[in-house]
Amino acid sequence: MSQTFVVLIGPPGAGKGTQAKIAAEKLQIPHISTGDLFRDNLKNQTELGKTAQTYMNSGQLVPDEVTIAMVADRISCPDCAKGALLDGFPRTIAQAEAFDKILGEQFGTSICCVPLIDLANEVLVSRLSGRWMCPQGHVFHEVNNPPKVEGVCDVCGLTLYQREDDKTETILHRIEVYENQTAPLIDYYEKKGVLNRVDGNRTIDEVSADILSVIRAGCGLKE
Ligand code: AMP
Repeated sequence: MSQTFVVLIGPPGAGKGTQAKIAAEKLQIPHISTGDLFRDNLKNQTELGKTAQTYMNSGQLVPDEVTIAMVADRISCPDCAKGALLDGFPRTIAQAEAFDKILGEQFGTSICCVPLIDLANEVLVSRLSGRWMCPQGHVFHEVNNPPKVEGVCDVCGLTLYQREDDKTETILHRIEVYENQTAPLIDYYEKKGVLNRVDGNRTIDEVSADILSVIRAGCGLKE
């Protein structure tokens, strides 16, 4: 049985969450967002959530060992037997190496495609500072993708909120953290021959069409 393990990377605000949801649904594999997993733990006030909270609110990365253990746990669930699309993980070289090891040892496979959503820093800041979320994870933007009724989720009718780490100062710090710690992954995956750059400065549909086509080509999937 061939598996489809995909890692979507890109700076904060590039649209990873939105694009990951679309691609995972089309490919019928689970979408694993480490940010969402941490936020769920935070909401439920688990020990893991409490550990992650301080790092998250200040835009820092949660320590590697905590994050890797959480992903190792999630990827062992039966729904990941055929693959998964990772969003927001790995974010450091240590995480990438640990993930390669998990895939090799547990699944006898490796990542088949790493789409990188490329976007200039100025665009990232304006995207993140206008972002509104619903408690179920649906995402809106004041200008680019406003909800039909201000402050209310189109999908589930719940009240929208701004993420604590979407405040301007924290946004700049998150971009810096990305450049220092996550951007080296570009080189890491380029050397493995699985990196595919996708221009993120287009409509959601255009970007998702491109992402799907690089994944299908990289992972040997049919249309
Ligand atoms: P995100 O929703 O992907 O922007 O993640 C929100 C926050 O969760 C990040 O700023 C980090 O504090 C934490 N986080 C998410 N994924 C990771 C990861 N792979 N490694 C470390 N921290 C993470």
